[in-house]
Amino acid sequence: METLDLSGYRHIVFFTGAGMSAESGVPTYRGKGGTRGSYSIGEYACQEAFERVPEKVLGFHEKRRRFVLDCEPHEGHRVIAGMADAAVVTQNIDGMHQRAGSRNVIELHGSLWRLRCDACGFRKEDYGGTYETLQCGCGAWLRPGITWFGDVLDASVMNRAAEVISSCDLFVGIGTSGVVWPAAGFPAFAHESGAYCIEINPEPSGAASYDRVIEGTAGEVLPQLFGGR
Ligand code: NAD
Repeated sequence: METLDLSGYRHIVFFTGAGMSAESGVPTYRGKGGTRGSYSIGEYACQEAFERVPEKVLGFHEKRRRFVLDCEPHEGHRVIAGMADAAVVTQNIDGMHQRAGSRNVIELHGSLWRLRCDACGFRKEDYGGTYETLQCGCGAWLRPGITWFGDVLDASVMNRAAEVISSCDLFVGIGTSGVVWPAAGFPAFAHESGAYCIEINPEPSGAASYDRVIEGTAGEVLPQLFGGR
């Protein structure tokens, strides 16, 4: 595959989904090897479950943290991190882009490495396998800072994503099935804003907004397409 000529592009956005981390060993949600159906959302991944049995929900997320800590960013993450001026808009909560060195990362669905207190507004970054503490100083349980099913997305994060996407001229969608909204609308938004849109996915999403679809994995395609930078 030929290396992409980037001389005509000034603002690049990488838009990533669970498939971006598949070659790091973090399973996707949908598609081959996906975790869909392997755990009960109603028991482990929604606000109601957290309010019912917070220890159980926190324990589940602690296990996910330990699992992700045993995985490493791959060459594709490093290629993206090497393009320091590009923005990353990710649906992933695993922090892999940051571990690879990306600095400008907009996390649409929050992060496994963040906790928040909905009672007093306290926020905490915590990068260990085991949570430093499960309770806030105010006495309430700390909640994983991720977007669960049924949650509303953080408006300020969505606004930042909309800003970088509306002003980009190259949009690269990687490893997303394009069914989780509102993120699923981003390729069309980028296309309508005038960006050239590329999809990288071994099982392409079928979204009509992509100008070029590369059937392949993130770890294989990214170093070839953006290699040598
Ligand atoms: P998804 O699970 O719905 O779809 C995964 C996509 O990745 C599929 O289209 C699949 O064909 C593609 N894929 C698989 N292997 C790939 C590879 N090696 N390279 C490139 N693409 C590959 O993912 P989604 O669209 O991101 O939606 C899932 C939701 O679940 C998101 O909201 C996300 O927050 C969450 N999630 C996150 C993680 C994570 O943080 N790593 C993992 C699972 C789920």
